[in-house]
Amino acid sequence: MTFKIDLHCHSNFSDGALSPKDLITRAQSQQVSHLALTDHDTTAGLTEAGIYAKTSHLTLINGIELSTTWNNRCFHIVGINIDPDACALQSGTLLLGQTRLERAEKIALKLAKRRIPGAMDYVLKKAGHGMITRSHFAQFLLEENHVSSFQNAFDKYLGAGKSAFVSTSWIELETAINWISDSGGHAIIAHPLRYKLTNSWLKRFLTAFKLAGGIGIEVVTGNNNPDDIRRAGQFALTFDLYGSVGSDFHSDKNKWVELGRLAPLPRDIKPIWDLF
Ligand code: AMP
Ligand code: MN
Ligand code: MN
Ligand code: MN
Repeated sequence: MTFKIDLHCHSNFSDGALSPKDLITRAQSQQVSHLALTDHDTTAGLTEAGIYAKTSHLTLINGIELSTTWNNRCFHIVGINIDPDACALQSGTLLLGQTRLERAEKIALKLAKRRIPGAMDYVLKKAGHGMITRSHFAQFLLEENHVSSFQNAFDKYLGAGKSAFVSTSWIELETAINWISDSGGHAIIAHPLRYKLTNSWLKRFLTAFKLAGGIGIEVVTGNNNPDDIRRAGQFALTFDLYGSVGSDFHSDKNKWVELGRLAPLPRDIKPIWDLF
């Protein structure tokens, strides 16, 4: 049997469009053999995903994507093979949920000051039982015709330094890695090239990540080109990290990203799934 592995995606328990059930169905129809559900700062979708994975052909891997702050910047750390019932992770995600709620209130206030009321009601309703994210605000701005596209919402209001941006203290990098490791999981740097860091800052970050016990890096992500894969792969080799592959799938409306549709991990990189 050939493997089709995807170790990074989102359900509507964070900013994904599909329920865990629909995500499993879609992954199955894409012949995915191993899928990690990695919602932002929550493991709440894993129960539903687990129920439907049981009657499917795919192997579900319990995951999470944690928001961390390192040197005043936000970095995403994916944890896979975690135990969602681990105490530190459970209390940690509660804390992050509170942080997200408080941040959302501040974002809504900033928008209201720009004569855009009603954001908080919308995002609370839209996020429902899940984490509130900036994607929910982007949807609100788009639906209310304040922006011309989802991307434009980030460029105009929600992106770093824009008028409704709220700088947030997430958890420390070391804390996130400890929560993941202590629950039996593997900590992986998500989409390393999306932080737009210079090589020297990226190396500094990778050094801190390794020192704190991180073991993997996403070498292949949803819309990578061959140059990106080579560059991320080089970091994996230099820092002796396992390589991971993950689409970061959010929605069936984005035709550029599909569950399991990923370039292969370069042969010289140790696959993280060797540890499974
Ligand atoms: P948050 O974790 O609440 O800050 O929301 C971050 C999420 O918003 C990311 O996981 C992406 O799904 C989305 N996002 C962030 N920046 C952008 C951007 N520039 N364009 C489109 N989506 C973005
Ligand atoms: Mn997201
Ligand atoms: Mn991310
Ligand atoms: Mn993600």
